[in-house]
Amino acid sequence: MAEPELVDVVVVGLGVGGEEVAGKLAEAGLTVVGVERDLVGGECPYWGCIPSKMMIRAANALAEARRVDGLAGTVQVSPDWAPVARRIREEATDDWDDRAAVDRFVGKGGRFVRGAGRLDGPGRVRVGDRVFQARHGIVLGTGTRPSIPPLEGLAETPYWTNHQAIEVEELPTELVVLGGGAIGLELAQVFARFGVRVTVLEASDRVLAVEEPEASAVVADALRADGVEIETGVRAERVDHDGSRFTVYAQDGRRFTGERLLVVTGRRAHLDELGLDTVGVTADQRYLPVDDRMHVTDGIWAVGDLTGEGAFTHIAMYQAAIVVADVLDHARRAEAGPDASGTSSVVGGAVGAVSAVGGAVGGAAAGTVPRADYRALPRVTFTDPEVGATGITERQARERGVNVQVGVGRLESSTRGWIHRGDGLIKLVADADQGVLVGATSVGPAGGEVLSGLVVAIHAAVPISQLRHMIYAYPTFHRAIEDALRDLR
Ligand SMILES: Cc1cc2nc3c(=O)[nH]c(=O)nc-3n(C[C@H](O)[C@H](O)[C@H](O)COP(=O)(O)OP(=O)(O)OC[C@H]3O[C@@H](n4cnc5c(N)ncnc54)[C@H](O)[C@@H]3O)c2cc1C
Repeated sequence: MAEPELVDVVVVGLGVGGEEVAGKLAEAGLTVVGVERDLVGGECPYWGCIPSKMMIRAANALAEARRVDGLAGTVQVSPDWAPVARRIREEATDDWDDRAAVDRFVGKGGRFVRGAGRLDGPGRVRVGDRVFQARHGIVLGTGTRPSIPPLEGLAETPYWTNHQAIEVEELPTELVVLGGGAIGLELAQVFARFGVRVTVLEASDRVLAVEEPEASAVVADALRADGVEIETGVRAERVDHDGSRFTVYAQDGRRFTGERLLVVTGRRAHLDELGLDTVGVTADQRYLPVDDRMHVTDGIWAVGDLTGEGAFTHIAMYQAAIVVADVLDHARRAEAGPDASGTSSVVGGAVGAVSAVGGAVGGAAAGTVPRADYRALPRVTFTDPEVGATGITERQARERGVNVQVGVGRLESSTRGWIHRGDGLIKLVADADQGVLVGATSVGPAGGEVLSGLVVAIHAAVPISQLRHMIYAYPTFHRAIEDALRDLR
């Protein structure tokens, strides 16, 4: 067996979260090995947020051009996928090449190892024949992969996941999308706007089922207006592919056919691949449970989608800042011994970095690492109109026994919404006993941007009485917040 190589920290998985942690720890002067089996940067830059938002930007430009009719004259629109595919290949993904990201990490002082990492007992990570012994800790940032439902026949077909949908150079004429969640709807709308006949199949009784029903209704109407067929209550049970076309068979006898099938039915962490049993952690959960400083167990942290706290890049980045501060705090204490005062100079400049990094996540000084707080977790579905949401939904609030008040403001009845001819709404969920908001949804042309004020309101527990006595700029989309506040009952 290979002699273990002694390092300070090993980071397994250099996606959004892992890359951030590894780079910051290396910059702080620790010896950091970063292990990545695929592309440094992970899902977001290569098959997720960035290329999908480039697609959305292009599709929205088409939609906006089509709105010229009746507003400002006439425009003839001829969609062409080639510039979109080219932009994704050249600008977003560098043809799915991570050389620049690897160089960036190495430039910060990190040691890069390509391969699949696996825990190999306390403090140890194995990558192929190499074993690394980490003095200060191991950080797992291995993310998730598409969760493929066990439908009869599906595995034998050439179905798409988000990877093929993002890499596509030539659009199909028809696409069946299995899954009406955020990713499925975003991609469905993009492809429909480029002329693909799209059918979305959703098992529950509405699309975007994790968000407020009012948001689902607006988005479903918008997609239908783009020509997307939406079928809800579809329990798919079998799939076949005859060499050129897919057929999805539902339990109730319905059949849906199309040239391509995109499966976007959620994502799942693969805990069984991580060797968690070698450190005494049970790996039979869907995600890896962590505390509010991302500890899994002694000397092991996790970051990003793997933790199940929200599959968003901003969660991975938020958690990464806490992990960096906490690992550096642990390293400092370990080096300084049991009487660490918080001021001794150790671990190659790590002390300075503790306070610098701590500041980024809430002004922590050495030894006072901030704790994660997800109360105002924001999320945006980038359909047109966008759905921004934060905190909990009305249903979640009722299930938790909150004394709920709900208020809705329609965008169409605000001046800006009427001028814009935009559909949307603000929905607020309040805790009447505390006099604060606990959830908010903003649907509209800039729903994701309007959200930010509502995130502040929930995060800082701003009293509703104060929100009612603020000045909201006229005529903005966010003035519908005033209507929703007035409607709270
Ligand atoms: C189509 C799509 C659109 C999205 N849009 C948005 C959006 O608009 N906004 C948003 O906030 N989020 C969006 N997301 C989610 C976002 O991409 C993820 O939340 C983010 O990538 C999570 O980062 P991560 O570091 O946890 O994991 P990942 O990015 O998944 O990275 C994990 C890395 O670990 C590597 N790895 C796994 N196992 C091992 C191992 N054993 N050894 C070594 N390496 C390993 C993987 O190869 C991967 O590179 C989108 C996702 C998809 C699929």
